[in-house]
Amino acid sequence: MYFYKNEFVHKQDIQISPDDRGYYFGDGIYEVFRVYNGQIYEGAAHMQRLERTASEVRLSLPHTSDEILTILNKLIGHNNLIEGTVYLQITRGEAPRAHPFPTQAVPIVLAYCSEVKRPLATIQNGINAVTQPDIRWLRCDLKTLNLLPNVLAKQAALDHGVQEVVLHREGTVTECSASNLMMVKDQVLYTHPANHLILHGITRAVVLRIAHALQIPVKEESFTTEQLLQADEAFITGTTVEITPILQIDGQSIGSGVPGPTTQKLQAEFERTFLNQNTP
Ligand code: PLP
Repeated sequence: MYFYKNEFVHKQDIQISPDDRGYYFGDGIYEVFRVYNGQIYEGAAHMQRLERTASEVRLSLPHTSDEILTILNKLIGHNNLIEGTVYLQITRGEAPRAHPFPTQAVPIVLAYCSEVKRPLATIQNGINAVTQPDIRWLRCDLKTLNLLPNVLAKQAALDHGVQEVVLHREGTVTECSASNLMMVKDQVLYTHPANHLILHGITRAVVLRIAHALQIPVKEESFTTEQLLQADEAFITGTTVEITPILQIDGQSIGSGVPGPTTQKLQAEFERTFLNQNTP
């Protein structure tokens, strides 16, 4: 079952208009939620980010956050989803193609669930990456449908035979195509500050909270690709990838080229956050 225009419907019964501004302009916003043991993980944080993005792009949400979470929980129930993701998208509505905000259009909500297993192999064994210029706009903090640069970046990674790209602006590392990036150097955890140049990842925030709890020093400071290549450890964070170690960047090993001790400590504690959440 899907949720579309205020109804729970089968996918084959959904009719999408070509006038949906999501198609013409990418004029919409979205969130991807993780579901562990049938429950949404960090739902309130995702809703806060959605509300912020909506407000920044001047899109009025047709439901309150509580109403949206209720809809998503019903969706999870209808689909008997235990482990997976929920995709939520809200476009500015349907109107003949013209740049100005339409006066009549009503925002359109689409949501559906996918059964997605935790990527345990890469979480344990790590991935490789290549560096690429970050060609995105200057509001990367907004989770909008304009993902073409991210799509191109991800494809460039696959074309190079690796799983992710490390994006940089004139040598300053920002994040990855669909995840945030952290590095460890001399026992200190570094990550780009949460400003307009990166998405303020929910997993990033959880990992920073865990690091504080474990008394791992954290510096939310930018660093260069050269500094990253000299790091002791590096990993990405994201709703679906959780904490995934990066072993090599541009063919060069990071640290000893295996998942590092700080990464593994954070991973173990991260697992506890969602195991605890779902303990009755
Ligand atoms: N950065 C980008 C560009 C992303 O697309 C995502 C997630 O999709 C993230 C970071 C990680 O954010 P989160 O931890 O909220 O999934």
